Amino acid sequence: MQAEIISNGDELTSGKILDTNSQWLSIKLAEIGITTLYHTTVGDDLSAMIGVLRAAAERADLILWTGGLGPTADDLARQAIAESVGVPLEKNEESMRFIQEIFQRRGQKMPQANEIQAFQPHGAMPIRNPHGTAPGIDFTVQRKNTSQNGRLDFFRIIAYPGVPAEMKEMWFDSGQMSIQEMLDRLTGQKRVLRFRTIHSFGLGESQIETMLPDIINRNHDPKVGITANQATITLRIVAEAVTEEECLKKIEPTATLIYKTLGDLIFGEGDDRLQEVVCRKLNTYGKTLAVIEAGTRGLLAEAIAGSKESPDCFAGGIVLPPKQPIEPDEMIRRGRRLFNVDYLLLIGAYPSGQPDRNRMEETFVAVVDAQKTDLQESVLALQKYPYVGHPNIIDDLYVKRAMNLLRKNHRR
Ligand code: AMP
Ligand code: MG
Repeated sequence: MQAEIISNGDELTSGKILDTNSQWLSIKLAEIGITTLYHTTVGDDLSAMIGVLRAAAERADLILWTGGLGPTADDLARQAIAESVGVPLEKNEESMRFIQEIFQRRGQKMPQANEIQAFQPHGAMPIRNPHGTAPGIDFTVQRKNTSQNGRLDFFRIIAYPGVPAEMKEMWFDSGQMSIQEMLDRLTGQKRVLRFRTIHSFGLGESQIETMLPDIINRNHDPKVGITANQATITLRIVAEAVTEEECLKKIEPTATLIYKTLGDLIFGEGDDRLQEVVCRKLNTYGKTLAVIEAGTRGLLAEAIAGSKESPDCFAGGIVLPPKQPIEPDEMIRRGRRLFNVDYLLLIGAYPSGQPDRNRMEETFVAVVDAQKTDLQESVLALQKYPYVGHPNIIDDLYVKRAMNLLRKNHRR
């Protein structure tokens, strides 16, 4: 089954707002094993809307639509869906009652304009919208020409309001389950999909891929995908089976192989970020931490303070001017004066404002045992990294390098 997502609204095509609904729905579809082949965005123009719906019906079996279900004249989704299929709009009594109830609950009289929201294409089902007045549309249409290559003999349009909170609520309220049921019916058996995501830091995407040639292969079962996000490389194992236990059984040997191969490059799984992992470790051993940073202008403190694990271990930080060179010793002295902690985590100054190819300079990152009096001995790890990379990610990279160095060098 292949899906297309259509977002509708002049505010999207004019560039006023970004289409985040499509991104969100694609992720949700992937989670239940459906590939999205197309994202289409269309303005509030009836013939254009009908056009994209017809094109989508040619090339997808499941069409998820968002936007244009409001009560005003520029809300044309109902009409476009009906006309693209060639059926009339008709008033749905269940929807009518539902909209009236929403207004009653709000203690308001229903404006006449909202009556239009109770109209549905003939043959479509309304979708409950728990907190908004616009019901969705769930419309399964039999194809006239069933010999289309690889297409099912029907296509299904599911339309949600554009307001992201309402769309998400409706997805969880009914959408996910009803699509999953459709998949089960099609395959004749209940399928379960389970994921495991494993995060690594320290090597690039292609290096990781070379280390795991056999499993990041289209034909591998379970499937393993690799993605890079700000230097965090994530491996996502996806298993499909009849039961959850079977999925987990399929995932296990692949995960074990990934752990064996990548070893200490792996820092966590699922929702874990480096800051969670580091703080959790410090909390386990009852250790505390302060940060002193220059080049990263407070971003290390922000990252650590932003972890829900940090309240117990994070004592605070010092932010120094980014470009003024400073030695580790001086940072340690300043840190000790202000904090009585187990560890200090340091990021040095950036020598230049912008990374400069011709001036490959270095910035240090260091983990310090703040309880040791001897300055030399107190440095548990110090790494120098050349200051190169895209300006948009370089700060984040140093922040992650610092947290990763602490992850690998803290003591019990
Ligand atoms: P609509 O349902 O078309 O009246 O949209 C209502 C509001 O939801 C719009 O004004 C946007 O702020 C928001 N919205 C609509 N479509 C999207 C989308 N694809 N992504 C993010 N926000 C959206
Ligand atoms: Mg709109």
